[in-house]
Amino acid sequence: MIFNLAFCTGVFCQTAADSIYVAKYKADKQCAISYTFDDAHLEHYTLVFPKFEKLGFKATFWVNGKTIEDYEKGLPNHTPRASWKNLKIMAEHGHEISNHGWSHKNLVNFPLEEGRVDIERNDSAILANIGERPITYCYPNNSKSPEAIKMASANRIGTRTKQFQVGSNSTTENLNCLIDTFLTKREWGVPMIHGITIGYDAFKSDSIFWNHLDKVKTLENKIWVATFRDVAAYTAEQQNIKLETIQKGKNWIIKPVLTLDKKLFKYPLTMVLQKNGIRKLSVKQDSKKLAVEILPDKAMFDFDPNGEEIIITTTVGSFER
Ligand SMILES: [Zn+2]
Repeated sequence: MIFNLAFCTGVFCQTAADSIYVAKYKADKQCAISYTFDDAHLEHYTLVFPKFEKLGFKATFWVNGKTIEDYEKGLPNHTPRASWKNLKIMAEHGHEISNHGWSHKNLVNFPLEEGRVDIERNDSAILANIGERPITYCYPNNSKSPEAIKMASANRIGTRTKQFQVGSNSTTENLNCLIDTFLTKREWGVPMIHGITIGYDAFKSDSIFWNHLDKVKTLENKIWVATFRDVAAYTAEQQNIKLETIQKGKNWIIKPVLTLDKKLFKYPLTMVLQKNGIRKLSVKQDSKKLAVEILPDKAMFDFDPNGEEIIITTTVGSFER
């Protein structure tokens, strides 16, 4: 979404911004990564959660209620599992606890209605134990059909349809290559991770994964690390938003128009004004002043995609000449 704007007052005329657009990713970063952890391994709580907290990253954990409850009841399971209590603590720290089916039912091997009941049972269990109904979904065994995708996507922001396996086959080199690919292609990468030191697809050495995360942290100015829920919402909004622009004197008025379900799609979007030498800019939406970040070649701010008009005020001297 790119606009070329110019504003003229009397004899004074200048291009106010070379372009105004809604950034592909939050804060106009080059790519996004959502780390997703499947099947509620206990290590997701004991190892992954503290590491992510230390780095300030948020992740998504796809859980099966039946696996958690069977493990809590002491039923045999070769992999230790997280408890609802563990998962609630993670959710309280901003991580996403979401739906991977109540009993890990492969949607392609069962009648669709059975799959729907299994998904809804897990929605209810997560709501009861975590306090929030999931708004994303992950297909057990990554098995899906067009009908299953349609059914599982109802009333959700998104479902995991594309992922990269990260685990036993991962090396420092191929994880570095993965980062390069996301950056070069400006992609949203979704690593799928199971065991860390034990269990299905565990790393040969967990340090491979921790070092990878440390490297991503050093590239934080280019990579947006966020939950699947947040990136799914952002990208859907970014692809669907329309901006109506009017220029009134020294103000630009931009009305965001988003026709997606407001209850689900309400993640703030980043607007970018591309121009060298911006010195001062005042931005308001819904009578509130928005925080503007000014960089040498652009200014940017986050706005409410379902909010009212955005009023951008410039004054003479707002730009270096
Ligand atoms: Zn699974």
